[in-house]
Amino acid sequence: MSAHSKYPKLFEPLNLGFVSIKNRFVMGSMHTGLEDSVKNFSKLAAFYEERAAGGVGLIVTGGFSPNRTGWFLPFSSKLTTQSEMSSHKQITERVHSAGGLIALQILHAGRYAIHPFLAAPSPLKAPISPFKPWQMSRRKILSTIEDFAKTAELAKTAGYDGVEVMGSEGYLINEFVSPKTNLRKDEWGGSLENRNRFAIEIVKKIRGRVGPNFILIFRISILDLVERGSKFEEVVTLAKELELAGVHILSTGIGWHEARVPTIATDVPRGAFIWATRELKKHISVPMIAANRINTPELAERILKNGDADFVSMARPYLADSQFVKKAFDERADEINTCIACNQGCLDHIFKRQRATCLVNPRACFETEIVVSKAKTPLKIAVVGAGPAGLAFAVTAAERGHNVSLFESSNEIGGQFNLAKRIPGKEEFYETLRYYRRKIEVLKVNLILNHRVTSHELRKAQFDKIVIATGVRPRTPQISGLNHKKVIGYVDIISGKVQVQKNIAIIGAGGIGFDTAQFILGRTQASTANGSEPSESEKIKEFCDTWGVDQTFQNVGGLKKKVENKSEQMIYLLQRKPGAPGKSLGKTTGWIHRSYLKDRGVKMMGGVEYLKVDDEGLHIRHQNRVLVLRVDQVIICAGQEPLQELYSELVDLKPDLIGGAFEAFELDAKAAIKQGTLLATNIEMT
Ligand code: FAD
Ligand code: NAP
Ligand code: SF4
Repeated sequence: MSAHSKYPKLFEPLNLGFVSIKNRFVMGSMHTGLEDSVKNFSKLAAFYEERAAGGVGLIVTGGFSPNRTGWFLPFSSKLTTQSEMSSHKQITERVHSAGGLIALQILHAGRYAIHPFLAAPSPLKAPISPFKPWQMSRRKILSTIEDFAKTAELAKTAGYDGVEVMGSEGYLINEFVSPKTNLRKDEWGGSLENRNRFAIEIVKKIRGRVGPNFILIFRISILDLVERGSKFEEVVTLAKELELAGVHILSTGIGWHEARVPTIATDVPRGAFIWATRELKKHISVPMIAANRINTPELAERILKNGDADFVSMARPYLADSQFVKKAFDERADEINTCIACNQGCLDHIFKRQRATCLVNPRACFETEIVVSKAKTPLKIAVVGAGPAGLAFAVTAAERGHNVSLFESSNEIGGQFNLAKRIPGKEEFYETLRYYRRKIEVLKVNLILNHRVTSHELRKAQFDKIVIATGVRPRTPQISGLNHKKVIGYVDIISGKVQVQKNIAIIGAGGIGFDTAQFILGRTQASTANGSEPSESEKIKEFCDTWGVDQTFQNVGGLKKKVENKSEQMIYLLQRKPGAPGKSLGKTTGWIHRSYLKDRGVKMMGGVEYLKVDDEGLHIRHQNRVLVLRVDQVIICAGQEPLQELYSELVDLKPDLIGGAFEAFELDAKAAIKQGTLLATNIEMT
């Protein structure tokens, strides 16, 4: 077979001797929430089947525990019995018939488990579990090794092509390996050889049980990113031992869940940890899988071409677009719906115990419930507003065969995403706009820019349906002196219309208040540099300096002291609610924003009463004291209100109302895109 013209490395098969993996795309393990109940296995099978049909070479499932102690949550996913095994067959059969391969991940949660029966090498409570683990007895250690082997054997019987042993992220196996969590004095703790023994015995036992012709992947923690974690030379020793014990492929794990370094959020530069995989690969001969913040075929190809890894694992990018691989193969990468690393639909859901999905693709994990089918009767539809809600509606309706006209008053599509994309760390939002721009072209949506459509025009054109997606307007709070020249709306600041001054008070500490602070700080940094766009490696170095990641492979746990980065500006971020600002931010990303601003000296205050703005600054009452914040600018980020004028003028025609125009309170892009998509999948002639 001749090499692919654009991505020759990605589409080169890799033969393990007993099985050939058709390309280098691995779908990394993701817990979706569907694993936890057999009732949902048909949905899970549909989810994997769609990705296999989309061309992924090898899929790795979410984690299944080898015993009850290893459950992440009570009654969460496990594979320990014949009857559990038989329900997995629908998954393996559907993936195989779609032309894919699938490996089951075996994950013992160790001290991260959130139930009272959790166990670990030593009785040390994790900061992210409310429970203290039991110390595993020697007997329990041996029976757990046996349990891992039994689960692998059951996986093989269920038709899986292999297993991935989860040895990173701070779960049980990692806890044995690390001196931070393993304080044992017996043959399972102390020396490196003893700490590695649990991992090695599991691999040997599995290999003995499943034979040589069954893929065995081990996810190894290359950088723990926690204090007293492993040294890199210890990681190399473990990797070599795993290779000897019979592992076929080593997969990259970066950072424990309790680490205070972001590893996959939007703020992390693309490919931020490839240097670590590259270094480990120098020491071993089995294929290696690279991971973390890889979301384009271009980057994936480059990683392989540079020889940094043999496979590229992406997980969330396949939630965002099940046809990622197929589009890359067909050289239609510009049609890929790119994962923007926001975590809002996926990880944040899992941490709130909801089913995972995706902000940019609400069909993810709802494949059997949200179906985009051809419309019975194509309709002539007008959509007003090309923000996320209007865009999602327009392209989904056009996909169904409707004739869609999309009106936008500004000169570009995207609505508030055009502000979001300007926030440092949110550059990925450009990709969503590129995706929609291309979809509009491909699906021949009639896009009319620079046109504030009137109710008169809409009536005259006699559309079958009108969808109002006009979004929001910023809320103006009732504070004395709000017409003072110091007072500015966030739109003027983020769009660059108004120059940022030195001392700032931000009224409102929701998502946009935090983003505005980050925008101000980011701008200052850019203007102190020489003005040119930093290279990828410079961005990665800056990220490592900011978060204290050691790139020299010398330090314990891969950490170093953060580089001091206090801002010369004085920024106050304020809210009326008592308590620390930032509680409404994303479950898995809020801490990143709080920590970033705190490190730069931003003063975050809750329980503030706004009194007035005048030449002196912003007068507030805080903790029963009246204070004057002597600031040059007061930026209003006090939420938004729906823009419903057009809707009101057309109400007799019963137009549909979606996104911020429908409800601005707690409206985010995830809700806007979901509303647009759902309406489009259901819209028919009434
Ligand atoms: P909008 O995005 O407001 O779009 C409405 C569109 O309608 C606009 O383009 C407007 O020009 C157009 N329009 C209005 N009236 C007319 C008319 N009469 N004729 C023609 N066109 C008209 N959300 C998240 O989920 N995650 C984030 O990380 C995030 N970050 C953000 C950061 C910033 C700085 C901002 C400002 C917002 C952020 N949001 C984020 C919020 C998110 O962007 C909004 O929830 C989302 O854009 C709402 O979508 P929408 O389509 O309802 O409205
Ligand atoms: P928001 O999150 O609702 O925050 C509004 C802020 O304004 C709050 O801090 C609120 O706090 C304050 N406020 C409300 N009414 C006020 C009033 N009358 N006077 C003074 N202050 C007032 O809204 P947003 O920041 O505008 O964000 C809009 C949407 O975009 C949200 O749904 C948000 O989730 C989403 N978004 C998400 C992200 C992200 O990173 N995930 C980023 C940006 C935006 P008090 O009432 O306590 O003062
Ligand atoms: Fe990616 Fe955000 Fe979708 Fe998660 S929700 S897959 S991070 S785009």
